[in-house]
Amino acid sequence: MSTIQLSPEELEAERKEILRRYKHLLKLLADKLSKEDRVNLRKAFELAAEAHKDMRRKSGEPYIYHPIAVAEIAIAEMGLGVTSAIGALLHDTVEDTYVTLDDIQKNFGPKVARIIDGLTKISTVFDQTTNASEQAENFRKVILTLSDDVRVILLKLADRLHNMRTLESMKREKQLKIASETLYLYSPLAHRLGLYNIKTELEDLSLKFIETEAYNEIQQKLKSSEEARKRFISRFSYPIRTALAEQGVKFEVKGRPKSVFSIYHKIVNKGIPFEEIYDIFAIRIILDVPLEREKSECWNVYSIITDFYTPSPDRLRDWISTPRTNGYESLHTTVMSPTGKWVEVQIRSKRMDEIAEKGVAAHWKYKEASGNSNHDNAIEAWLGRVREMLESPDGNAHEFIDNFKLNLFSEEIFLFTPKGKLVNLPAGATALDFAFEIHSQVGARCIGAKVNTKLVPLSYKLKSGDQVEIITSVKQKPKEDWLSFVITSKAKSHIKKSLQEEKKRIAKDGKEALERRFKNSKIVFSEENIDKIIKHFKMPSALELFYNLGIGKIEIKSISAILEHKTAVNIYEKATGKNEMLGKDAHKFIKKLKEDTLLIGDNMDKFDYSLAKCCNPIPGDEVFGFITISEGLKIHKTTCSNAVNLFSSYAYRVVKARWVSQQQIAFLAGINITGIDGVGLVNNITQIISSELNVNMRSISFDSTDGIFEGNITVYVHDTEHLKSLIDKLVRVEGVLKVSRVDYH
Ligand code: MN
Repeated sequence: MSTIQLSPEELEAERKEILRRYKHLLKLLADKLSKEDRVNLRKAFELAAEAHKDMRRKSGEPYIYHPIAVAEIAIAEMGLGVTSAIGALLHDTVEDTYVTLDDIQKNFGPKVARIIDGLTKISTVFDQTTNASEQAENFRKVILTLSDDVRVILLKLADRLHNMRTLESMKREKQLKIASETLYLYSPLAHRLGLYNIKTELEDLSLKFIETEAYNEIQQKLKSSEEARKRFISRFSYPIRTALAEQGVKFEVKGRPKSVFSIYHKIVNKGIPFEEIYDIFAIRIILDVPLEREKSECWNVYSIITDFYTPSPDRLRDWISTPRTNGYESLHTTVMSPTGKWVEVQIRSKRMDEIAEKGVAAHWKYKEASGNSNHDNAIEAWLGRVREMLESPDGNAHEFIDNFKLNLFSEEIFLFTPKGKLVNLPAGATALDFAFEIHSQVGARCIGAKVNTKLVPLSYKLKSGDQVEIITSVKQKPKEDWLSFVITSKAKSHIKKSLQEEKKRIAKDGKEALERRFKNSKIVFSEENIDKIIKHFKMPSALELFYNLGIGKIEIKSISAILEHKTAVNIYEKATGKNEMLGKDAHKFIKKLKEDTLLIGDNMDKFDYSLAKCCNPIPGDEVFGFITISEGLKIHKTTCSNAVNLFSSYAYRVVKARWVSQQQIAFLAGINITGIDGVGLVNNITQIISSELNVNMRSISFDSTDGIFEGNITVYVHDTEHLKSLIDKLVRVEGVLKVSRVDYH
């Protein structure tokens, strides 16, 4: 959009041209307009023209040409009515001009306001994004609006079609972006809505900008072969035309070439040169017959054709008895022509032809007249499936697009329940997909199926016309491998959801088991500690850890070993100052700790060990090491009162240990002396301790009651030998009755 200066004459000419275009639009609707419609349409046109009056398109044309063109597409090419025309005229006003949604609501009512609101939302989220994932997500939003009012999506397509038709004036990068986006999102959407002509034009225009050369070449070849094609069609259809004329049937014969885009794809994907593509066109016989005779007349024509030409038995398609989900109805056959070429013939009524070309809107037009609810059901079924995809809980946008495209492009198959109800699934669907299509619970409990009364596995691929009976069992549960053979998003999302729930249930058990183990090991069940274990097993999440514990893939026993291992590493780190968690030395150290006897006193002073306060072992005592979580290695006497408990509950944390030859380190030991109180007794005892054996006394206390005395002394000794000789000396002191070693506290 840019502003340019025009002379008054030029402006006047433009004003006339705008009016001329509006009148043309009006003519298209003429017979459908009430007086009120006419007033409203005029109002919409004037509001749009005024609001856009200073704006121009990239081509330099007045901007209002665009909304008028979009309205024309909506009416003439989609079969839409006056509400859509008003919506089309106003579609860019709220987004690009001073006009507000309120203004629209006040002037045109809530219906039009909702349409404009939908369109504005779509373009603000949609046109302003650049990356693919954002686009996918936005596309999802676009589809969501479908459930509000299909007109929003139809007008969006009309808008896109006009933009594609006028893409020439855009910059090259912009052309490529818009064209590929059209191929990726809009043409599949048009296809799904049954807008065959629009889909084809969108594809051809996209190809024109993306693969310009290939496009031009095919276009050229189509043109130069046109005469020959016409001659062929005329000759081929001659006997049929004669027969129909004799019967007095009104009809029209068309020879429609395939689109440039689809020819291009045949050339590229199948490697067939243009000249050898046999189905470059199809012959279409369109009958002008009343609704009630449509079907029988179509089959009548089939019968006439096959009187003259031999049909290919596997290429008969009856889309009249069972229309496609997008509403398409037609009878197709492929017959052998006298020149030895296969020719596809499409037989349909005028009504069917209009639906085939203009799609869902044309379908609406005939809805009331036909009274045939089959088509409505088909459209409803499709909208329902789209909604399901949108509402699936793990709806990742890309996955959604893939699902959407899968469901779009694959042909459909028609199946029957045992009671003869029709079920529509994409080709490639399995018995299990069918079960989920019936009901999520039928799917979840499906153990097998009978197809045409024969028993088949869940993964059995269904074919059109199959009658399917599902066999269920209450004991059945969805399995992981089911995901490998279901193709519908309904089945996929139900299976995933149910597996997820099962997983959560198992994980809960695993979590509880772990919590008990932590409790037994006297470790806090904290996030930090759980994290350590998650890291150890390289699990992506706590849920995954708990789940693996729950199914026994990780043994709960091994958790103990880890806690121990971590402690050992910790001891090692403190001892060496190295903090490389799993360095070679650390492993060696831990192995030694587990397998060898810990030699206390042999360079052990650099390790972080301490003597247990409960039993105060000294060199010479029989001892063991015990790995604590926070205080490193503790040395206990084997006779320690806690030993039994430690051995039985935490055997995995016990380390064999013994003393080696001592350096002159002193250990504290407690001695209890009882005897008969006498003069000089205390003196004698302390003398022996301090002077005679060079023993240092740390504390001494004596109590005397009724002539009996009791003394407690703590002394520093080197080892048990040293202590024993001290005790021997003390026993010999006069008055002493008993000397024993005690644990001091
Ligand atoms: Mn627009």
